[in-house]
Amino acid sequence: MANDLMERIISLCKRRGFVYPSSEIYGGFANIYDFGPLGSLLAKNIRDVWIKKMVQERNDMYLIDGSILMHPKAWEASGHTVAFTDPLIQCPSCKKRFRADKLEGWNLEKDNQTGKWNVLNQGSLICPDCNGNLIPDVKEFNLLMTTNVGSIEGEKTKVYLKGESCQNIYLDFLPIRDTMGAKIPFGVAQIGKAFRNEITLGKFLFKVREFEQMDIEYFCSPKEAKKLYEEWKNIRFNWYIDTIGLSKDRLCWRQHSSEERIFYARDAWDIEYKFFDEFEELEGIHDRSDYDLKQQGKFSGKTLDYFDPVGKKRFTPNIIECSGGLQRTFLAILAEGYREEKVNNEKRVFLKIKPNLSPYKVAVFPLVANKDNLIEKAKDVFNLLKPEFMTIWDSIGNIGKRYRRQDEIGTPWCITVDYQTLEDNTVTIRDRDTMKQQRIKIEELIGWIKEQLNV
Ligand code: ATP
Repeated sequence: MANDLMERIISLCKRRGFVYPSSEIYGGFANIYDFGPLGSLLAKNIRDVWIKKMVQERNDMYLIDGSILMHPKAWEASGHTVAFTDPLIQCPSCKKRFRADKLEGWNLEKDNQTGKWNVLNQGSLICPDCNGNLIPDVKEFNLLMTTNVGSIEGEKTKVYLKGESCQNIYLDFLPIRDTMGAKIPFGVAQIGKAFRNEITLGKFLFKVREFEQMDIEYFCSPKEAKKLYEEWKNIRFNWYIDTIGLSKDRLCWRQHSSEERIFYARDAWDIEYKFFDEFEELEGIHDRSDYDLKQQGKFSGKTLDYFDPVGKKRFTPNIIECSGGLQRTFLAILAEGYREEKVNNEKRVFLKIKPNLSPYKVAVFPLVANKDNLIEKAKDVFNLLKPEFMTIWDSIGNIGKRYRRQDEIGTPWCITVDYQTLEDNTVTIRDRDTMKQQRIKIEELIGWIKEQLNV
């Protein structure tokens, strides 16, 4: 059922305009996807609730929106140009490429200074795809994507697309410190694109080559780092439950082993979610010491530090990093919310997702599509709600079919304008999850919906 569920979600995403393969008219491209009309709304709602909780409702956070292209030295300083590698094995028969660390029985360790992988234990040499024999020749494969900047041929500079979105935050530490009067501890939040030449793909949105990360870099004194790290672990774990609506028993923590952890990190945990059949990473939360600012300082020649006005001391801030993926959160919401049930012997598919994440909050229907007075009244209701909420109009087919169409895209409430509306200005409002209807006065609709949405 687990893989089957993924297939059903992929099909729903395509059918209802959530996600399209990029450049599909050319047969798709490189495991890259577009958010369609419905997916864009869901993605926007995820970004909005992240910003609301992580920035708006706090006093210690700044939001930035950094560029994708940055000075190439920043990626040398961060170590990505040499060490952002995965261990690659290519099957000599079918030419498929695999990550050796993901093959059965293999255990490898990366040298984070050089990006080289040492094989600690050689596992299966059977190609998972064609059953041919693999040659145990592990190559380092750098995930960074490159492009060129400049208009004169021969004078172009090779630059990198962001391998992780957060790098601008380290580079903007100084201007934020100086222009915003930021007092430590404070954090900088950013939602931005990241690009990786991943070796193994598949699993739909879970592993793609272009994606968005929702990152927080929290700057603090070394003394406070341990305590704040635990605080941020809680904040982020609970965000997935309270704000995103994932169930607690499908979430878990996984600590990085000392071999897996990057050498300067003091501690690293992943929040994992049981998307389909196994728990997999949703977000990484790392106690990164003062390494990032020190490295960028060393390469740029600037001093990225902070003067503590109370203790009268200068120090390089420590960083607590929370790095989550938009596409994985999107997929988790669909995996959690996808429901099928039988109603009157017919299959009903519905997305039980939090109403404030739903692409449309409300749908408006005239009971029938061939009565001008009903249509006119329904249009009035539609126009009343549209400036307040994402509202969708549907007058095609019978009401039952229209309910099903909205259920499938997660619209929490459907409003029907019927003959009684013309007499007493009330409409029916039907709940996606219970399918129960109630009558409500048109003038009370906006307040009622806002109350349900808690806005
Ligand atoms: P994994 O090992 O699962 O590929 P990672 O450890 O490389 O992930 P990080 O570098 O910690 O990932 O990135 C932070 C977050 O960015 C991840 O938790 C995930 O949500 C998201 N992410 C990373 N790589 C991808 C990808 N290729 N496609 C979609 N999301 C990604």
